[in-house]
Amino acid sequence: MQRVFNPIHLAAAAILEPVVAATPKKAATPVNGQHRGPTGSATPTGAAALSGRLAAAVRNGESSPRSVLDEPVDQPRALPPESLLHGVIPATMWTSKLGTNYSLDDIRKNDKRAHAELQRIRWRPDNSRCADCAATPTVWAIVNHGTFVCLRCASVHRSLGTHISKPKGCTGTYLWGPDELQAMRPGNRAANIALLGDSAPRLTPDVSDAALREHLVDKYEKKRWAPAVRPPEPPDLMTFDEPPPPPEEDFFASFGV
Ligand SMILES: [Zn+2]
Repeated sequence: MQRVFNPIHLAAAAILEPVVAATPKKAATPVNGQHRGPTGSATPTGAAALSGRLAAAVRNGESSPRSVLDEPVDQPRALPPESLLHGVIPATMWTSKLGTNYSLDDIRKNDKRAHAELQRIRWRPDNSRCADCAATPTVWAIVNHGTFVCLRCASVHRSLGTHISKPKGCTGTYLWGPDELQAMRPGNRAANIALLGDSAPRLTPDVSDAALREHLVDKYEKKRWAPAVRPPEPPDLMTFDEPPPPPEEDFFASFGV
C-alpha cells in the first residue's frame, strides 16, 4: 500500500524541529572548573532528513521531487519535551542572580531605591578598591561572594563560569533584588576576611594577567585561603539558666559574735 504524504504533518514537524534540535539532551555540567556546553547533539530526525533530501533533489535539478515527498515521515512528532516546560517562570516574575523569584512589578517599583542603596554601599571606603587587585574604581559586583571589583577582575570572574562567580555591573540599568543587595552589604573587607584569612597574598593593580587569574581561581574556586568554618557547638542540654544562689547568711552574726 502506498503511504500518502501528509503536508500538515510535515509542516508541524518543520516547526518543531528547530525547537527539539536546540534542546540540550543533558544539563551542562561543570567539569574541571570549566563550564561545558550541552554534550548531546541532536540526531537527525525524520523531518530533518526529509528536508535535507528535498534540498538535494532541488539542487540536482529535479523539477518535481515527488519521489522524496512520497517517502513517509518515519515517526509522528511528539510535543516539545518536558525539559522545555520545566523551570519556566511566569513573565510577571523576576529571578535574581542568587536564584530568588520576585514580583517583577515590585522590583521595578523599587528600582530607584535599590540603585541608590547599591551606590551607597559601593562608595563606602571599604568598597572603594577592588576586592581582588586593589585597583579603582569598583564597577562590578560579584553578588554570590559579596565583593566589589574592578573591570579587569570582573572579566576574569566572568571567565570562571557562573557556578563560581556571578558578576553583575553596578553602573548599568540592571534590576537589583533585595537578596543581592543584602549580599553586598557586608562589603569587601568582610568578604576578604572570609575568603583570604590572614595568610593569603594581597594583590596590587600591577599584577600580571596570569597571576591574577591563578589568584582568583585559588581564592574563589578552590577556597585555598578560606579559614575553616567550625561547626556550631551542640547545645549543652544539661545547663540551665538558674538564678544565682542567695549569699550565705553569716550564722554567727545573729549571735553578735
Ligand atoms: Zn581588580
